Amino acid sequence: MNHPAPPPHPAQSAAAFLAEAHALLGERGLTSDPDRMDAWLTDWRGRYTGRALALAAPASTEEVAALVKLCARHGVPIVPQGGNSGMAGGATPDTTGSAIILSLRRMNAIRKLTPEAGMAVCEAGVILQTLHEAAEAAHMRFPLTLGGKGSATIGGLIATNAGGTQVLRHGTMRAQVLGLEAVLATGEVLDLMTPLKKDNRGFDLKQLLIGSEGTLGIVTAATLRPRNGVGGARRDYRGARRSAADGARHGRCARRFRGGAHALPPIRSRPRTCGPRAARRSASLERADRMRFVRA
Ligand SMILES: Cc1cc2nc3c(=O)[nH]c(=O)nc-3n(C[C@H](O)[C@H](O)[C@H](O)COP(=O)(O)OP(=O)(O)OC[C@H]3O[C@@H](n4cnc5c(N)ncnc54)[C@H](O)[C@@H]3O)c2cc1C
Repeated sequence: MNHPAPPPHPAQSAAAFLAEAHALLGERGLTSDPDRMDAWLTDWRGRYTGRALALAAPASTEEVAALVKLCARHGVPIVPQGGNSGMAGGATPDTTGSAIILSLRRMNAIRKLTPEAGMAVCEAGVILQTLHEAAEAAHMRFPLTLGGKGSATIGGLIATNAGGTQVLRHGTMRAQVLGLEAVLATGEVLDLMTPLKKDNRGFDLKQLLIGSEGTLGIVTAATLRPRNGVGGARRDYRGARRSAADGARHGRCARRFRGGAHALPPIRSRPRTCGPRAARRSASLERADRMRFVRA
């Protein structure tokens, strides 16, 4: 009678997994050095600290897919991590030390930024502030912003469906996403990177992934919707900031500009006065600006 082979000792199994993962990702893509992992084992608020078998940092969607397949084969749990700035401890592994942290930070390319199409294609590890700067350089504006923008990544913002300080005007991250690319638990790559607003092909699967905090898949890239129409943005915003300061001095204007410069539509120059005439003038300047931008 044939007896099934006994399962490998956990230490043997972990060593075999680490050897395969190392062969897949190389020196830059995998570490189990406690000193190098330390900073990523505690959440941003310092409320949870975990342990991890290794910290993996793949450099491409293909590497993420291969790593997920490897983890599935060895039964190794995965904790996706972006900037580790989340408030709910979702990016922190538990204390068993059996999981790996799968960091998306090396996947930080903005693949495409097209003002004409109002579209940006970003990898999951792009930091929000980097996207803001790239958009501004292309005379565009990515409207979602929050205090953690220097750390939060596009993947993390999608995974948590973040809101931010402009949420009432522009919606949550869900409203900024046109398409998604994600790796599922099987290692299959789900390519939903449509660049069009109009997409009425059956179920909108990306909506399930947005806000799912890595439970349904690992977001590797997204097509986002920066806004157009801020040609000459620097001059416009300087004007808007002055207006906000003026507004603070003059009660009625203060209410209008309370949201600060970023809450304002782009205007070419500040209105001299308050009131309906000034508002009409500002609206017509804004229209002219948009037309100028579209023609350009
Ligand atoms: C100072 C500050 C101010 C903030 N203000 C706001 C605010 O105004 N409004 C608001 O909504 N939020 C706010 N946040 C929280 C913000 O939403 C999160 O910090 C951000 O979304 C997390 O991004 P991250 O890349 O750091 O993700 P992480 O913290 O690394 O991960 C967060 C969760 O997403 C998962 N995850 C990360 N990357 C991926 C991926 N690529 N695929 C799948 N799952 C992934 C993780 O497993 C974890 O569950 C603030 C945070 C800070 C630090």
